[in-house]
Amino acid sequence: MHMKKVTLTFDNGPTPGITDKVLDILARKNLRSTFMVVGRNLEDPSAASLLEDVHAAGHWIGNHSYTHSVAFGERQDGEYVEAEIGKTQQLLGKYVHPSRFFRPFGNDGQVGPHLLSEAALSYLLRHRYTGVLWNSVPHDWDDQAGWVERCLADVSRQDWTVSVLHDIAHAALPRLPELLDRLGDSGVTITQDFPDEVILMRDGSPVSLPDSYIAERL
Ligand SMILES: [Zn+2]
Repeated sequence: MHMKKVTLTFDNGPTPGITDKVLDILARKNLRSTFMVVGRNLEDPSAASLLEDVHAAGHWIGNHSYTHSVAFGERQDGEYVEAEIGKTQQLLGKYVHPSRFFRPFGNDGQVGPHLLSEAALSYLLRHRYTGVLWNSVPHDWDDQAGWVERCLADVSRQDWTVSVLHDIAHAALPRLPELLDRLGDSGVTITQDFPDEVILMRDGSPVSLPDSYIAERL
């Protein structure tokens, strides 16, 4: 039997007082992850300064939109795409991964036609982004008691789980050490890369890109 894999991602930061502690916990286990950053957080210099620490520790940094507010499928104009993706990419500057990771805002982790508009899709392809979705949303932000078990259940039913956790207040941090211990005990491999199943496009080339993720193709 092949080994199960788990990829952990941390979204919606960086958050001073949280992201730094997540980095410490991951470092103790010698683990690498990806941080999907919300651009407007970087207007706070103390949050922006965390990017250097995230990058220096070997984690990957991705673009998770500027405002994290309205999904592209619900606002389909081209200016909105530039404002959400282009502006964040500029703020990330030298810390962006060479594959230009982008994760769309999903309305509490849902996958569907709200994820992309034709304008957002053509922008991502033209600028050679790597679009990264997920196949596990444990709800660390609104279910402190249940999210670790939900994550472990996702891991047990899939060969390769890509889980969305959050480096924001009242989310993954309190129980992250417990999750990592339990994943370690279960013998899964925690890896940094992503399976094709959750990749919309890689460096601008379509991978898993069904019409059902694009608003106008409904
Ligand atoms: Zn998010």
